Amino acid sequence: MSTPVIETEEQQALRAAVAALGKRYGREYFTRVVAEGKHTDDLWAEAAKLGYLGVNLPEEYGGGGGGITELAIVLEELGAAGCPLLMLVVSPAICGTVIARFGTEEQKRQWLPGLADGSRKMAFGITEPDAGSNSHRITTTARRDPETGDWILNGRKVFISGVDIADATLIVGRTEAVSDKGARTGRLKPCLFIVPRDAPGFSRTPITMELAAPEKQFELVLDDVRLPADALVGGGTSHALDSGGEDTGLLQLFAGLNPERIMTAAFALGMARYALGRAVEYARDRQVWKVPVGAHQAIAHPLAQCHIDIELARLMMHKAAHLYDSGDDMGAGEAANMAKYAAGEAAVKTVDQAVHTLGGNGLTAEYGLASMITAARVARIAPVSREMILNFVSHQSLGLPKSY
Ligand SMILES: Cc1cc2nc3c(=O)[nH]c(=O)nc-3n(C[C@H](O)[C@H](O)[C@H](O)COP(=O)(O)OP(=O)(O)OC[C@H]3O[C@@H](n4cnc5c(N)ncnc54)[C@H](O)[C@@H]3O)c2cc1C
Repeated sequence: MSTPVIETEEQQALRAAVAALGKRYGREYFTRVVAEGKHTDDLWAEAAKLGYLGVNLPEEYGGGGGGITELAIVLEELGAAGCPLLMLVVSPAICGTVIARFGTEEQKRQWLPGLADGSRKMAFGITEPDAGSNSHRITTTARRDPETGDWILNGRKVFISGVDIADATLIVGRTEAVSDKGARTGRLKPCLFIVPRDAPGFSRTPITMELAAPEKQFELVLDDVRLPADALVGGGTSHALDSGGEDTGLLQLFAGLNPERIMTAAFALGMARYALGRAVEYARDRQVWKVPVGAHQAIAHPLAQCHIDIELARLMMHKAAHLYDSGDDMGAGEAANMAKYAAGEAAVKTVDQAVHTLGGNGLTAEYGLASMITAARVARIAPVSREMILNFVSHQSLGLPKSY
C-alpha cells in the first residue's frame, strides 16, 4: 500500500513504526483475544508506551502534540495489520478532543494525561433507543439539585462501546438553559457530562452483538445519577453553557464529531486494507486451472476496484484530517463525512470481495475473513449512517430540501 505523498517525513516514519508494531501482534493475536473474550490490553499498553495513543493530545498534558492526522495513521496501520482498536476512535479522538478543547483546566489535568498514556479510557454515549439517528430527540436530562449544586442525570443510552473498560463515559444529555440573570428559560440545550464507570445509578447491560470484536456494546441506564458540579464539561454551572451567547454544549459536541468521522474512516480503511491484502495473497497462490485465480479478470478487476476505492477514500480522509488540524472545523465537516462514507463503503465492498476471492476458504474460521463482513458493516452504520451522510451532503453541499 503506497504512502500518500501529502504526508510529512515524521508522519511517514510514524506510519512505518506503527505498521511494524501491528505486524508483531498481527491478526492471530486479535483473533485469539476475541476468542478468549479478553481485550487487546497488551497491544494497547505497548502502543501507549510508544506514545501512539495520545499522539493527537496537547504536549502540556502528556500528549504527542500532533493532530488527528497522526492518530488516524495509528488506527489505520494497526487495522491494516489486523488489529483495529475501536477505543482509539472514542477515547483519545472524541473524548480527548472535547476535553482538550472545552474542558476546564482541572478536567484537562485530571483526564488528558491518562487518556494520552493509555492508562485511562473514556467511552462516549450519545445514541438513545428512541432517538437513533435523530440526536435532536435525545431525552437524557440533567437537572441541578438547588441545595447542593450537584447534577442529577436520568436517561437511557444504547450501543455504547467499551463502557466496561472505560474509567468514565462522556454522556451527551440536555439541560434547561438559564438566562444571564439566572432565570429559567424552558429551553433545553445539549450538555456533556463525565460519568464515572461506577457512579451509583449508572448501570450497563451488554448487548449481544454478532460482531467478532474485543469491545462490547452496552445499553446504559442513568437513574438519578448524582454528579458533582464539575462533572459538566467546561464548567460547573449551566451558565457556562450560555457563555458567549452560543450553545456551548453544541459546540463541544461538534468538536468531537469531525475526529469521530475521520477516525471511523481510518478504522474502516485499515480493515479494508487488511482484507484486500489477504485476498491478493490468496489470489496470487491459488491455482485451479493453468494460472492462479488472480489472473482471471473476474477476480482481479474487483480487487483492483477495491484498491482504487480505498485509495480515494484515504485521500478524502487526509483532506478531512488536514482541514481539521489546520483549524477549519466547517471545511473539515463535509470532508470528514464524505471520508467516513467512502471508507465505510470501501470496507464493506472490499471485505465482501475478499471473502469471495477465497471461495470456500472465505467462509472458514481458519482464514477469518467471513466474520469481518459484520465488522465492516459497523463503519456503514456508526457513528452516523450512510443515509444520514447522504442527507448531509444533499442538504449542506447541494442545497437540496429536506424530507424530514
Ligand atoms: C458496533 C457499534 C458500536 C457503536 N458504538 C457507539 C458508541 O460508542 N456511542 C454511541 O453513542 N453510539 C454508538 N453506536 C450507535 C450508532 O451510532 C447508531 O447505531 C447509529 O447512529 C444509527 O442509529 P440507529 O441504530 O438507532 O439507527 P436508526 O436511526 O434507527 O436508523 C435505521 C435505518 O434508517 C435509516 N435512516 C434513519 N433516518 C433516516 C433519514 N432521515 N433518511 C434516510 N434514512 C434514515 C438509517 O440510515 C438506518 O439505515 C454504535 C453502533 C454500533 C453498531
